[in-house]
Amino acid sequence: GSHNAVLSGMLAADKIAAAIAAGRANDEVVEIENEWRATDIGKDLKRVRNVKPLWSKFGTAIGVALGGLDMWTNTLLGFSFFGTLRHGKTDAASLEPASMHRRIDYPRPDGVLTFDRLSSVFLSNTNHEENEPVHLQVKDMALQKSSEHDIYAGPSTRYCPAGVYEWVEKNGEETFVINAQNCVHCKTCDIKDPNQNINWVPPQGGEGPVYPNM
Ligand code: SF4
Repeated sequence: GSHNAVLSGMLAADKIAAAIAAGRANDEVVEIENEWRATDIGKDLKRVRNVKPLWSKFGTAIGVALGGLDMWTNTLLGFSFFGTLRHGKTDAASLEPASMHRRIDYPRPDGVLTFDRLSSVFLSNTNHEENEPVHLQVKDMALQKSSEHDIYAGPSTRYCPAGVYEWVEKNGEETFVINAQNCVHCKTCDIKDPNQNINWVPPQGGEGPVYPNM
């Protein structure tokens, strides 16, 4: 129960203190990369790795059919005709200007099957000190306005699962607001911002989501 959780928390803190005393403060957890690839999730992802590159390359009809074939050979025979294909471009480079697309009106969450983002953020138990050092850094605010807002219609307000980013009118000017205390550290903004203008850095020690029911 909670007693064990407190105990293991203390043990973890002791281990961290010992590691720091041993001069290992800058250790990187490099084993994570190999270890997750050996799990069931890692193996599943390996089998489907070519589906999206094939889809992008050959279009919906042929690409999806080839993706299906590739998943069969990977699953049944443990092998792919294609090896490992690469994506043609980064997520950030895949965004197109809003003027090329129709606006999507998303239905309101119904509270039964779909939920608003802030009640999900509440469940994540995410926590940051009010005055913590900024961990979501925008390199160039003028560019954020002229490009992310004016050209791409503010995708950060939709891709961020925690509703951290908002474009709000202040004194007649569209202003980029960052509610950093809600961040659940998914790193999407760092990857998806069309100008690579947002830099996610680790928050100060131990802050962020704490999922008590996972
Ligand atoms: S890391 Fe994820 S949750 Fe945090 S601000 Fe970026 S997109 Fe939002």
